[in-house]
Amino acid sequence: MTVTHDLAGVIATDKQLWRDFEAICDCGGRLAGTTSEAYAFAHVTAQGTAATGVEGQSIPVPYGGWSPRAATVTLAGGAKAPCQPLVRSVATPPGGLEAEVVDLGRGTPEEFAAHAADIKGRIVLVRHELMFVAGTIHRRRKYLSAMEAGAVGFLIAGPVPGKLVAGSSGRQDGGGIPAAGIAPETAAALQRTARGWPLVKLEIETVEQPTETQTLLFDLPGRSDDWIVLSAHIDGHDGGESAMDNASGVATALAAARALAPHVKSFRRGVRLAFFSVEEWALTGSAQYVKALSIAERQRIALNVNLDSVGGSPNLAALTSGFGHLEPFLLGVAEASGIALRTVRPLMQNSDHANFALAGIPAMRLVAGFDDPNANLRYVLTPADTRDKVQEPELKQAATLAANIVAAACAASDAEATAWRGSTSAA
Ligand SMILES: [Zn+2]
Repeated sequence: MTVTHDLAGVIATDKQLWRDFEAICDCGGRLAGTTSEAYAFAHVTAQGTAATGVEGQSIPVPYGGWSPRAATVTLAGGAKAPCQPLVRSVATPPGGLEAEVVDLGRGTPEEFAAHAADIKGRIVLVRHELMFVAGTIHRRRKYLSAMEAGAVGFLIAGPVPGKLVAGSSGRQDGGGIPAAGIAPETAAALQRTARGWPLVKLEIETVEQPTETQTLLFDLPGRSDDWIVLSAHIDGHDGGESAMDNASGVATALAAARALAPHVKSFRRGVRLAFFSVEEWALTGSAQYVKALSIAERQRIALNVNLDSVGGSPNLAALTSGFGHLEPFLLGVAEASGIALRTVRPLMQNSDHANFALAGIPAMRLVAGFDDPNANLRYVLTPADTRDKVQEPELKQAATLAANIVAAACAASDAEATAWRGSTSAA
């Protein structure tokens, strides 16, 4: 594996990378449906054209719009604590939802099973986990387990003192239970005592109506009809800057595209720069994009390189979604780039690459700080996901690696690209 263009040199002197990162953070948390998300799309539309020299193509993405209006938890003594409704949480009934709270700790299947008889009619309390480690249990699985066991509400406690935690309930339309993130101090006040399970009143007001966002594509054709899709999601959560997740990936994708753009015409495959939204809503934007592709179009995508949370730690991992044959290729590019990379194979449905992978398209997510509980990535989904957690050299390193992966994937022989499609996960 050789690196044939000095993409690293171009990215090393790219001042726009950090400017884009700050500008996207300046938009705010970018919850889908807010003006904050719209500002970010305006910036990326302009910078995507500046980076690639082509006009963006905007594909409408209809989805079930949702916004929170008010939310509180009232403790037994009458004290009120703030909470953050999970995305697409249903509202509580008029007057609020009064129920006892069952603390299930982390919320493992064992804890749900052991408390099966305690859950019905109560509110389940679990803990938010570091997402970027093997064996993490996704919030949506815990939410579904609570619902299935007959819980009437769902609380998830964040890891950062004094801070709420955000996330999606995973609910689409129809039924669900009210669900909210709380601070660890509130969880501590909801411990079971000798008097029994603590009683709380949960109040969540929401507005729901059909709405629309977009997927934004910039196509740089190569010499064939085949593509490498370089993607990042623009949306985030209220209450902070969603800096690591995912201003880092958006700014890095733009920088990689800027470095690649002058060369793509001579590549075997083209580069499609894709910006998705409603990623934080159960990967909705990329799901619609992949679903709309014909089988032939899917065949023509050789690889999806998805950048999500690529700052906050200098240590990079490639989540290869079960495509084990991709790993020697990725490691070869990383070595040639002088950048340390580890590969993690199980399919993780934690970002847009998962929709490509589920459709049989080789897909990887580049992520920083995987398996490192001390990395700044532990602040993701909290209001502490701010720009000060990210260093410019981290983004430059991620952009260099992403650009070199995309360039090498564009140049790879058809035989090699075909080999990537062979799944190793079942072996
Ligand atoms: Zn993300």
